[in-house]
Amino acid sequence: MGPGRILLAAAATVAAWAGVASGPAAGQTPAARSGPRGIELRDLDRAVDPCTDFYAFSSGAWREANPIPKGTQRWSRRAAARDANRQQLKALLEELSAKADRPRGSAGQQLGDHFAACMNEPAIDAAGVTPLAPLLADIAGIQDAQGVQRAMRRLHEIAIPGPFVVTGASSYHDPESVVANIAAGGLGLPDRDYYLKPEPRFAEARETYRAHAASVLTLAGATAARARKDADEILALETRLAEASLAPAAAADPATTAHPLSFAELKQLAPNLDWESYFAEAGLPRIDVNVAEPAFLERLNRELAATPVAVWKAYLTWRLLEAAAPWLAKPFADESFAFKDRYLGGVTTAKPRAMRCLESTEALLGEPLGRVYAERYFPAAAKARVQEIVRSLLAVLKDDVRDLAWMSDAARQQALAKVEAYDVKVGYPDAWTDHSALVIRRDAFWSNVAAARRFGVEADRKRVGSRKSRALWLLPPSSPDAYIDVQLNLMALPAGFLQAPAFDLAASDAVNYGAIGIGVAHDLTHAIDLLGADFDSRGQPRNWWTETDRDAFRKRGQCTVQQYDGYTIEPGVHLQGKQVLGEALGDLAGVRLAYRALQRSMQRRPVPVIDGFSPDQQFFIAWGQFRGAAESPDLQRQMVKTDSHATSRYRVIGPLSNAAEFQEAFACKAGSPMTRPPEERCRVW
Ligand SMILES: [Zn+2]
Repeated sequence: MGPGRILLAAAATVAAWAGVASGPAAGQTPAARSGPRGIELRDLDRAVDPCTDFYAFSSGAWREANPIPKGTQRWSRRAAARDANRQQLKALLEELSAKADRPRGSAGQQLGDHFAACMNEPAIDAAGVTPLAPLLADIAGIQDAQGVQRAMRRLHEIAIPGPFVVTGASSYHDPESVVANIAAGGLGLPDRDYYLKPEPRFAEARETYRAHAASVLTLAGATAARARKDADEILALETRLAEASLAPAAAADPATTAHPLSFAELKQLAPNLDWESYFAEAGLPRIDVNVAEPAFLERLNRELAATPVAVWKAYLTWRLLEAAAPWLAKPFADESFAFKDRYLGGVTTAKPRAMRCLESTEALLGEPLGRVYAERYFPAAAKARVQEIVRSLLAVLKDDVRDLAWMSDAARQQALAKVEAYDVKVGYPDAWTDHSALVIRRDAFWSNVAAARRFGVEADRKRVGSRKSRALWLLPPSSPDAYIDVQLNLMALPAGFLQAPAFDLAASDAVNYGAIGIGVAHDLTHAIDLLGADFDSRGQPRNWWTETDRDAFRKRGQCTVQQYDGYTIEPGVHLQGKQVLGEALGDLAGVRLAYRALQRSMQRRPVPVIDGFSPDQQFFIAWGQFRGAAESPDLQRQMVKTDSHATSRYRVIGPLSNAAEFQEAFACKAGSPMTRPPEERCRVW
């Protein structure tokens, strides 16, 4: 996920598959009744008064029945839905791969054969390192500096970076346009500190890395002595490159890395790099580029002249092997797992092969997979319904901004323009890319990986020079995650994310507005809040809040800061209102906006009383059930210190105790814990 982009469904540590209850509750199947589905009755703790503790009332029974699985700190219906999503995809791929004679170039053939080839471990093991032989021979045959650069280009064509990388990216100063972004890439350790810092943990990581590289080079056929020598040279070269690399935070900051150059200036900056050949072979237009790290490119320019060809050959061999190792024969895959996942990543057990193959298929064939997935799990009617929800939320937000008394007129004009221009991608792209020319074979896994990567790189390069940065989806349609791009003023909600409990076509509008509706409304406010204030409606980096707006915001926000400061997770440990302010205001506004949008929607399509719950009650309970989670005490203590979101309990209670509509819906009396006194009610958006 790039700069300015925020992943919405935070990738919770995913629990082991076995023994995990997932999916919607039994007894609530849509087929069992004629009307829409209501809230999850089994999750309610009816022993608790909703006006006393709505969190316990709405999802307490769920927590009682669903302890946090071992090895994770948080569990929820949303987390279970992530698991269900993986299981759906796995079943889909197993079904597709069971049939070997689908029409060539069809999504079913490509998906089924890619998955089958990946699952065929005996064939992969038997092939050893042979699938890489042509590329390894290319590198071994390098004679001179031109040869070094030619080999780099060959690796880039299959998305193997080193020592730099060129990708299409939206321009910082003109974000709709896609430019060639030239960035540092191709260090085997996570960042510069690992190469440069003297602390024991970094020194140990360097030694482990050196041994790892030597092992893989040996597996690929080098003698032990040669492999050790090469590993030493590789580490030394990467250390020199690391010296000129930015720290991760700076490298991820779009403002720090925005250095637009003309093609001529690029050639001047790093004349030893053959940019003419690079751009010609890549089919890239010779127009303005962005150089993310000019100092790095200057250093690389010097290294190209100063570092012997033999060292470059070792380095490029290593880059190729390192990238391919997870997908080669078992000894390579084991070595890669031991270093990258276990040593660097702290992962103890490898994922089941089927999960790895699913991830490979999703990463390489995201659109074909998304297409097949959506046909089964996110029909056109679901897309239309979510789009309708989004439209109504945007309309309500627009009215809201028009009426905001505290906002200056100058800021209001910008805010309205941003709401009007806001782009919400729902489910899957409106037009699918034609993948039929991509050759995927049932008997050649690495060649499939390389072909699919090449296809992706070509598509990426074709976008350079266009104004299509908005059209790009950064997650595949099957993903259980979603994201917002604050600069581009857009949100993407993949079909895999738009599943129960977030959205369910069979559920009542009240339930959907209470779940995905509040969630989307929350994120829309980020377009105009402190985050969105940094970019105008065209995505230009220009803060459009006036001093008056900042003052008014600070004053009004104080109410919410105080409210959340008052929430404790255990005796003596309370939330930090300032730290969670932006997200708490999003929840507060999300509930208000989605409630109003639901009322409008019900004028056209009324929601019936279901299981004895009024539409308004369904709406509020849906929020409690969507947000409700089990979080370990350790995780809660951690969240209080660092998370910009309140713990789940307060994300439910916080906004609802402010809402008169909530108190009306449950007939809560003044003075009840879920009823804040009128003078203490907060509102910013
Ligand atoms: Zn947020």
